[in-house]
Order: sequence, then structure tokens, then C-alpha cells
Amino acid sequence: MYNFNYYRPLSLEEAAQVLSAASDGKLMSGGMTLIPTLKQRLANPSDLVDLSEIADLSGIEAKGDTVVIGATTTHAEVADSEVVKSQIPALAALAESIGDPQVRNRGTIGGSIANNDPAADYPAGLLGLGATIKTDRRQIPADDFFTGMFETALEEGEIVTAVSVPIPKKAAYAKFPNPASRYAIVGVMVAQGPAGTRVAVTGAGPGVFRVAKMETALEKNFSANAIEGISVPAKGLNADMHASADYRAHLVGVMARRAVTAAG
Ligand SMILES: Cc1cc2nc3c(=O)[nH]c(=O)nc-3n(C[C@H](O)[C@H](O)[C@H](O)COP(=O)(O)OP(=O)(O)OC[C@H]3O[C@@H](n4cnc5c(N)ncnc54)[C@H](O)[C@@H]3O)c2cc1C
Repeated sequence: MYNFNYYRPLSLEEAAQVLSAASDGKLMSGGMTLIPTLKQRLANPSDLVDLSEIADLSGIEAKGDTVVIGATTTHAEVADSEVVKSQIPALAALAESIGDPQVRNRGTIGGSIANNDPAADYPAGLLGLGATIKTDRRQIPADDFFTGMFETALEEGEIVTAVSVPIPKKAAYAKFPNPASRYAIVGVMVAQGPAGTRVAVTGAGPGVFRVAKMETALEKNFSANAIEGISVPAKGLNADMHASADYRAHLVGVMARRAVTAAG
């Protein structure tokens, strides 16, 4: 690890101020991705701004037709939340499927989406549910937020403060997990509700993506049979020691049908 200055601000304003004053500052939420990166000397920030003591950034609240989740809310808190379990059970189940208890108790929804790992679960969850990402500067629809592998629409120094998730009529998340890390080899969120009928896929490609053909078919007939013959092309999908591109393409269909069946 290289040396850095460490700050633990108590307000969002203070965090933004410290970050903008730093020559090469970095935000930290649960540190689940950032700390290993620092330990391996893959990053060399001048200042670390730890968001974990900012009370306003944590918590879960039902607000009208949405559930609002603060950026530093952990995966375990989402999985255990009565609000999420009753309003968006698919999202609680997604959070429960992340990593192991240690990861779920430190990792946060804000850190996960800011990092935008191509195999992470929340990007598919939020894109599939048609969520909006709130920052200290603006609101960004999930459709515009996830821009590529480990890339997002966040600008330099912009802080994710919360996500606002419309409550769907039906939704389910199906994942084929890597047996070691539990990251998604392929994960599919299917939802129908105020944001329309949506099918969002993680793990398969360099970034999270929607499957328009499946969405159109499900719009007419929300059943696994309706998407039986629809496949995604393997070209451009990820291929590694865990799964070939062809296998991932096949899994997209299988996981989508499982999610539709589970969503009922
Ligand atoms: C062993 C292991 C298994 C895992 N398995 C899974 C899995 O099955 N599924 C899955 O989805 N994920 C998995 N993860 C990822 C994990 O769940 C965390 O979400 C992820 O590591 C991010 O961690 P964090 O929230 O602590 O963010 P940090 O590590 O603190 O930060 C990550 C990045 O986001 C930035 N950042 C953090 N907060 C903000 C913010 N509010 N605004 C702007 N930028 C911000 C940081 O600067 C940093 O670049 C796994 C991780 C580990 C170590």
C-alpha cells in the first residue's frame, strides 16, 4: 500500500469539499473493492474520503411508488430490509445472493454501482427495475448510468447519494453464480411495472445490457414460453476460464426464462 491521507467526513458537503481539494482523491464506501486494489498497489490516491460516517447516505425508505436506498447501505441491510422484502422482493433476493456474509456486511449499493464490475448483480437489478441514481449533482436514469466495463456516467468527484427504485408489479432475478466468488457468470433481472417490461443482463457482456426482443415478447405475453425461441448472439460476449461466449449466450435464455417463471 502507498501512503495517503485519510478523511472520514460527517456530511456530504464536507466529503465533496475534501475530495475537490485533493490532488488525486478517491471515495471509499465499504472498501470491498478499493482496499484490495490499494493493497496490491494498483491505485495510488493522494487522499481517501471514507463515506461510512455520513448518516444521510445510509438507510432505506419507501417514498410513494418507489423505494429509496442510500448509497452506503450494505447488501446485508438491503437483503434484510422489511421495506425491500415487501415492496421489491426480487431486489432483496439479489442482495442476498451477493458474495458471502463478510462481503454483504461491508459492500454497499453505491460502491457496487460506481464500480460497475461487468459481473456485479446490482447493475442488472437497477437497469431491469428502471431505477434512478441520485448523486450530489443530479439524477441519472440507470439506462444512462452504466456506460461500459467498470465505467459509469459519473463525472470527476461526483458522489452517488442514493438510488430510487420504482416498485414493480412483477420482478425476479435469476443468477448462475461463479461458485467461488458468487459474482454472476450470467444474471438476469426481469421486471414489469411503471418502468415498462424490462430484461437486463449482467455477467454475459462487457457491460450490463437489455434484451429488447425479450421485452417486446413479454410485453404481449409475460410467460417463459413467450421468450423460448429468443436468443442473444454470442459475438461480443465475455469468454474466460469460467464460461465461453456461447455458453453465456445460452445461459441468458435459461436465466431469463427462470426469472420470468419466478416473477409469475
Ligand atoms: C470476495 C468478493 C465477492 C464478491 N461477490 C460479489 C457478487 O457475488 N456480486 C456482486 O455484485 N458483487 C460482489 N462483490 C463486490 C462487492 O459486493 C462490493 O459491492 C464491491 O466490492 C464494492 O464494494 P464497496 O461497496 O465496499 O465499495 P468500495 O470498494 O469502497 O468502492 C468501490 C469503487 O466505488 C467508488 N465509490 C464508492 N462509493 C461511491 C459513491 N457513493 N459515489 C461514487 N463513487 C463511489 C470508489 O471510489 C471505488 O472506486 C464481491 C466482492 C468480493 C471482495
